[in-house]
Amino acid sequence: DPRTSFLDKEWINPNKDLTLFYNTTRANAAVVALVRNSELYGLLESIRQFEDRWNKKYNYPYVFLNDVDFTEEFKFRTSALTKSKTYYGKIPEHMWSYPSWINQTKAAECRAEMSSKNVIYGGSESYRHMCRFNSGFFFQHQLLLPFDYYWRLEPSVQFMCDIDYDPFLFMQKNKLIYGFTISLMEYESTIPTLWDAVKQFIEEYPHHIKENNIMKFISNDNGETYNLNFEIGDLNFWRSDPYRDFFNHLDKLGGFFYERWGDAPVHSIAVALFAQKSEVHFFNDIAYYHIPFQHCPTESEYHEIGRCHCDPGQNFDMEWYSCTPKWFAT
Ligand code: GDP
Ligand code: MN
Repeated sequence: DPRTSFLDKEWINPNKDLTLFYNTTRANAAVVALVRNSELYGLLESIRQFEDRWNKKYNYPYVFLNDVDFTEEFKFRTSALTKSKTYYGKIPEHMWSYPSWINQTKAAECRAEMSSKNVIYGGSESYRHMCRFNSGFFFQHQLLLPFDYYWRLEPSVQFMCDIDYDPFLFMQKNKLIYGFTISLMEYESTIPTLWDAVKQFIEEYPHHIKENNIMKFISNDNGETYNLNFEIGDLNFWRSDPYRDFFNHLDKLGGFFYERWGDAPVHSIAVALFAQKSEVHFFNDIAYYHIPFQHCPTESEYHEIGRCHCDPGQNFDMEWYSCTPKWFAT
């Protein structure tokens, strides 16, 4: 049949999607998205590009987490966009609530105060639970326990270049614990006492601090560096004693609620304290957009190989508040 033979020929064309079928070695990893039901459509955009640019060739499973139950529509629409397995989990109460030692009246006053000063997310209670969950608990959620690596996905982000290798296997092979694409300064007003808390921790737990750590990269009079949303990481790093002690130390001090400590600076500081530079990777080849910033590689060969759709002139690495040049100088 001429129609079938034509199809067969198309099918075996080595320039087509053969990677779909011959890629069998995978890391023990999952894509993780903490997301609200109301963000479904923004998330679908993210998944669509994430699949097209990368995961359709690798089929890593997704773990979706939420502080309330996901709707049937959410499950149906997200599953429809991928061949991968999709898991949906509700966050247990203790991972998304006030610990007993937090004075909730004081927390509410702090929110009102920060809100009046227009601190970003300063008045939001849910944002604080989100930051605390991402700092201290996501890696302990039941659905993530089977996995060793994660790639964090958010609603309404973009991946602007093809990724034709497996970053998880890359991490595993090179014994990396953390990867990022965008790093920037944190607003001082969200973390006024975080730095003191870190210094206190270093004094109390000197044995946890890694030799040849990367503190130089983040310590700065103007505040701390943090990595924006994009993370590929080793879950066992967050499950380790040093990090658990670090999180518990911060949690006891109450800054997640009395200030607005973000998960990004907390993660970044932990990586700087407990890792060496050779264990952390800047993914220059992964083009990532999260409003209002993007990392777009400037090398033209990446654009050709990766069929990129971003403007290399709009690259956050070059902005004065980017910490990436400092990363290379560290
Ligand atoms: P930003 O990136 O810091 O501006 O904050 P986002 O609003 O994007 O929140 C970070 C991530 O946490 C996103 O993936 C959100 O979908 C998720 N998130 C934020 N707040 C909540 C919440 O109250 N419930 C749930 N389920 N997810 C949340
Ligand atoms: Mn976001």
